[in-house]
Amino acid sequence: MITGKTKLLGVIGYPVEHSLSPLMHNAAIQAINDRQNQQNLIDYVYLPFPIKPEDLNTAIAGFSAIGVHGFNITIPHKQAIIPLLSEVSDIARVVGAVNTVYRTNKGWVGTNTDVAGFLAPLQTYNWNWHQKVAVILGNGGASRAVVAGCAQLGFAEIHVVGRSEDKLTAFQQSWVNSPLPVNLTIHKWDELSSLIAQADLLVNTTPIGMYPNIQESPVDEAMFDNLSPGAIVYDLIYIPNPTKFLQQAQVRGAIAIDGLEMLVQQGATALELWLQQSVPVDVMRRSLRQHLGLSK
Ligand code: NAP
Repeated sequence: MITGKTKLLGVIGYPVEHSLSPLMHNAAIQAINDRQNQQNLIDYVYLPFPIKPEDLNTAIAGFSAIGVHGFNITIPHKQAIIPLLSEVSDIARVVGAVNTVYRTNKGWVGTNTDVAGFLAPLQTYNWNWHQKVAVILGNGGASRAVVAGCAQLGFAEIHVVGRSEDKLTAFQQSWVNSPLPVNLTIHKWDELSSLIAQADLLVNTTPIGMYPNIQESPVDEAMFDNLSPGAIVYDLIYIPNPTKFLQQAQVRGAIAIDGLEMLVQQGATALELWLQQSVPVDVMRRSLRQHLGLSK
């Protein structure tokens, strides 16, 4: 129910119509109220805001003026928002992108919950990460959050695979002065076959295999035979679910993690920041699975 005191949350992006965030955040807000007694109800609504790049400054000034409580940021504003904030968290600086903004008495503070979202499903495994090797496919924005997450876990080796020598070199360079311990090596795709054999964690951060190209996989069928059966294979893509990449891994006895859990967990971390209370992750997950027609 919208009242005279309803506080505004939302997501900015361009385009933003595809975003699943309004669905899961509003489902969580409703569930919190369904579980509370009448005195402790929370009064928030989460809306999508399509904001063109040239309108970003005006929009953020407007958000300040109308007292928006907090918001998420998606493509193309994750870097452009940074100069408009009063403060940026250490993890957002390391990643070089902000996906969540909250308000303090100093002004807007930006952080990055993609790293926590990526880590949440991995942390359910009690592995000695310091002895493990991560192989990460892709060197774009999401890859940065994945590298930061792997570094936080303390991976012994992090290997990043890309198709552009220049982009790979710039990517590696950007981690040289990182406060996180990152033992990072860069590779072209033709080295993937031998890398897969060493991988304890193999992560796809490229869009290869994303709907509608559901027959594609970033890894050849034959190359997957080199994978060790106990490895974790993680795809950041959440539609289709599972992707061909994850199906190939599952057939070979690997542990498969899909991108939906990362999406849910980055959202839950953001909502906890805004509401300063624990949030129903189960409701957020179920709302997305139902919407996507997946089994519970
Ligand atoms: P991005 O910044 O555009 O990076 C994409 C990366 O994939 C780049 O390194 C790009 O290489 C590489 N790539 C693209 N097409 C390729 C191809 N055909 N062959 C080889 N490499 C290719 O995108 P992003 O923001 O990192 O997102 C990547 C994926 O992660 C998307 O599918 C997105 O939906 C997903 N994602 C999921 C979550 C989640 O919560 N589950 C969060 C963030 C992102 P070049 O640099 O050479 O172009």
